[in-house]
Amino acid sequence: MKDLYIDGDWVASSSEPGEDTRTVLNPYDSSVLATVAEAASADVGRAAHAARLAFHRGPWPATVAGERGELLRRIADLLVRDREELARIESLDTGKTLAEGRIDVDDITAVFRYYAGLADKDAGRLVDAGNPDVVSRVTYEPVGVCALIAPWNYPLLQMSWKLAPALAAGNTMIIKPSELTPLSTIRLVALIAEAGAPPGVVNLLLGSGAEVGSAMVTHPEVDLVSFTGGIATGRKVMAAAADGIKRVALELGGKNPNVVFADADFDTAVDYALAAAFFHSGQVCSAGSRLIVEESLHDDFVAELAHRAEAIRLGNGLDPATECGPLISAEHRDKVERYIAQAIEDGAKLVTGGHRPEDPELADGFFLRPTIFTGCTSDMPVVADEVFGPVVTVERFRDEDEAVTLANDTDYGLAGAVWTSDASVAQRVAGRMRHGTVWINDYHPYLPQAEWGGFGRSGIGRELGAAGLDEYREAKHIYQNIRPQPMRWFTGAEPLSETGTRQKGGSPQ
Ligand code: NAD
Repeated sequence: MKDLYIDGDWVASSSEPGEDTRTVLNPYDSSVLATVAEAASADVGRAAHAARLAFHRGPWPATVAGERGELLRRIADLLVRDREELARIESLDTGKTLAEGRIDVDDITAVFRYYAGLADKDAGRLVDAGNPDVVSRVTYEPVGVCALIAPWNYPLLQMSWKLAPALAAGNTMIIKPSELTPLSTIRLVALIAEAGAPPGVVNLLLGSGAEVGSAMVTHPEVDLVSFTGGIATGRKVMAAAADGIKRVALELGGKNPNVVFADADFDTAVDYALAAAFFHSGQVCSAGSRLIVEESLHDDFVAELAHRAEAIRLGNGLDPATECGPLISAEHRDKVERYIAQAIEDGAKLVTGGHRPEDPELADGFFLRPTIFTGCTSDMPVVADEVFGPVVTVERFRDEDEAVTLANDTDYGLAGAVWTSDASVAQRVAGRMRHGTVWINDYHPYLPQAEWGGFGRSGIGRELGAAGLDEYREAKHIYQNIRPQPMRWFTGAEPLSETGTRQKGGSPQ
């Protein structure tokens, strides 16, 4: 299997035979989708070294910024050309619907175009030193070799949010998709090569997090680690990167409140609450998995939500009739089922779902019916933890203060929403919510131009927007004295005058 991409060549793993490949499963029916290379730590070393050489000797970091932008534009054009193929691969690999796969490809095309445009803007600034003898400016340079590590729920999207700004800024990189969903990233790297990225600029590694991912993080030739994944892994990544004092950016999970006031438009709020919770079977870092509903609306809202959740059609992501695909793996479904069992034990009321579908056609896939719990409190694990499945919990609030208190009662802080027809309430609540993105009367959209990231334990740093480019740049201050004269600070015998200046020659003033 030659699907590692190192220094401009597609190569096989250097692992021992038997350990050098991995099978990738279709979560819809457990069938084998592909067999791909499983890298060894020696491959991580080769890739990191190729990236290091490409950074020091290659043309990329010194390429005119506008030309770097052109490469990103060409990648975007190729994404448009191969949209259907990429969407199909993403659907097969993750279980998400083809429609969602297409949305992902369109989104990353926009992200590549956005950073293409930003590549030659904001090249630096002159600083007024307040001194006619000084020229001072701040410039931006690439950080160096970046290790980019992505999760399985949005393989193309999460990797592209890193790749596009890292490339635009002139870095070189080693990248790794999740071992569960490597297929679309292999295609993406082929497109980056086709677009003309010089050898060594983007190097693709495949394999497990414990072996390959951790070797990437600790490799001495890596300067920056950008990781998207779970909180427990994020903690390990941060600790492992500390030894080398590497720059670390973390996009971790979320437990995202969706706050609904009684004056919200009922049909729209229910509709979006379903999408917020069950889009991609809830395997979305910003999923609205924690509904917080005003007391007077609660019962009607839950009844309609359950009615509509029960009608959600599960199935093959490639079937246009499918509304929701499976979970990513048997292990992950087991974990979600443990949360469901625990919630019942803790006294939450199961309104609907909580079990696998009866349809025999879905028996080999990792499916779970959309699940709704009421009577929940923020100390229950099903409310406090990121369950990352089709499970939504409902809590009640009596007034605005209680709504905000509940929405902020979490260790996470990635995203949330508020639904109301009162614009002042909407702005007040959005302003008080301690989350990196807050939607008002909407759920889930993001913009390439707007920063994305988490408060609290949802992460460190921001992706997208101008800050997303800054993650991959070093700021450098260049200070020039245009009237240099001897300073004569250390003149030994010469005493200081009363004003503190030396008496002979040029002065520090
Ligand atoms: P994960 O933490 O298990 O794995 C993420 C990636 O890290 C994978 O590529 C994995 O192989 C690798 N990895 C695992 N152990 C590693 C180690 N010790 N060192 C280096 N790399 C290692 O996460 P997942 O289950 O793939 O993805 C789901 C998680 O991702 C959820 O918690 C979700 O909220 C989060 N996520 C966050 C965002 C965001 O924008 N904040 C977006 C998408 C997903």
